[in-house]
Amino acid sequence: MSPAVCPVMNTAFKWPVGARGALSLTFDDARPSQVEAGVPLFDRFGVHATFYVVPAAIRKLPDAWRRAVASGHEAGGHTLSHACTGNFGFVTDPKKSLEKMTLAQLEAELVESNAQIEQLVDIRPVSFAYPCGQKFVGCGERLQSYVPLIARHYRTGRGWRDEYFNAPDRCDLAQVAGIELDGLDFDQVRPQILEAAKSGTWLVLAGHDIGTDPRKQMTKVATLEAICAYCRDPANGIWIDTVTAIGDYIRRTRER
Ligand SMILES: [Zn+2]
Repeated sequence: MSPAVCPVMNTAFKWPVGARGALSLTFDDARPSQVEAGVPLFDRFGVHATFYVVPAAIRKLPDAWRRAVASGHEAGGHTLSHACTGNFGFVTDPKKSLEKMTLAQLEAELVESNAQIEQLVDIRPVSFAYPCGQKFVGCGERLQSYVPLIARHYRTGRGWRDEYFNAPDRCDLAQVAGIELDGLDFDQVRPQILEAAKSGTWLVLAGHDIGTDPRKQMTKVATLEAICAYCRDPANGIWIDTVTAIGDYIRRTRER
């Protein structure tokens, strides 16, 4: 494991000039609404987002995804099979549940999904989002964390439904906290952005679909427009960028 990944309590850490905190917008599963509604919105504001994709979903709109990545948005890994606990009803084949998988099988998925994503969008993923936010294979006494595999194959790994902001001087880049964005209005997000600026931390927001109807797992267009407008105003002191842009900045400051 690279020592740069591990927390070092670098109390001299400073964000780039003008920034007091940072924010990344991230979206999972490569759902069509992300390139249809999300990418044009982000492009209007000059904001780059991170999309954690499964190759099978990219194949539904390959040209749109290739254009999105070529214009600066990030495609990260999310496994091949969207591996999650068999507790979820949508995991119909128990053999594909995290409880039944081994580290070797999980690692094979990471390698293969990276190769397929590279073939589809010409960029090899360097960031990862844990499907369902789950970071283990096996169960009970034989449960093993797969965080070390993510540290080996990617520069950052993002969680889901976490409850803290990422302190740049001490966060584990293989377990970057992701806070749910789906369903929130800007009034609910703004206090979190203010807190990131006040505490000098990195807020990573995580959503799924992007649109205007109140579906489950839907990030609201109006909320995204307000976040982008707020973060593009230099007076607010927020650096908004992809997970890799901000993660790499943090990593570089640890290597100095
Ligand atoms: Zn997912």
